[in-house]
Amino acid sequence: MSIHSNLEKIKNHINDKVTLVAVSKTKPLEDIKIAYDYGHKDFGENKVQELIKKAQDLPNDINWHMIGHLQRNKVKYIVSFIYLIHSVDSHKLLSEINRQACRIRKIINVLIQVDISEDGSKFGFSETNVINYLENFNIDDYQNIKIKGLMGMASFSYDEELIKKQFTLLNKIYQKFKKKFEFEYLSMGMSGDYKIALNCNSNMIRLGSNIFGKR
Ligand SMILES: *Cc1c(COP(=O)(O)O)cnc(C)c1O
Repeated sequence: MSIHSNLEKIKNHINDKVTLVAVSKTKPLEDIKIAYDYGHKDFGENKVQELIKKAQDLPNDINWHMIGHLQRNKVKYIVSFIYLIHSVDSHKLLSEINRQACRIRKIINVLIQVDISEDGSKFGFSETNVINYLENFNIDDYQNIKIKGLMGMASFSYDEELIKKQFTLLNKIYQKFKKKFEFEYLSMGMSGDYKIALNCNSNMIRLGSNIFGKR
């Protein structure tokens, strides 16, 4: 299957309120270029170094999404060009993004990552912690950040009921804070589980292998 036909197939499956983030991690520039020339603008990477390199070498109207764990000391390298950081998993990281964004007088869009998987292998706030955090969060204290929504990854499992339960939980938290933060993005769903995620109200899916093939 070609990157073109994969994209075509997926785009026919989803409605235009859903943002498709093409996860290009580990894939060469040529693959991204093919998707880009086809008209695709949203790409996701999970490593800062790779992200910077690709952003330098590719057209600058690409929307770059940081979807992997982000170390605080690397925030400064991406704030100037990043479109959306999906992986804010601690208050310290959020403060650092705000600080670096302030330095260059920008507002950075972020999502709060929630660990819905219950296997403890994923980054993110726990359910209880994220609820506490968002309840007590004073938006005016962080002028250079806009929390646009939530991101989560379900367990790697064939148990569709379990995955559905985890996505439903994330949507519940999303709905609870939607008004306060004017949320726009619920980022959940990968190649293996995006159909379940869309049924649970996801409007941003992150697909790698379905588009670019196995890694
Ligand atoms: C790699 C990755 C994806 C895409 O995974 P696929 O199974 O290839 O679709 C999505 N989200 C995150 C956070 C990832 O690290």
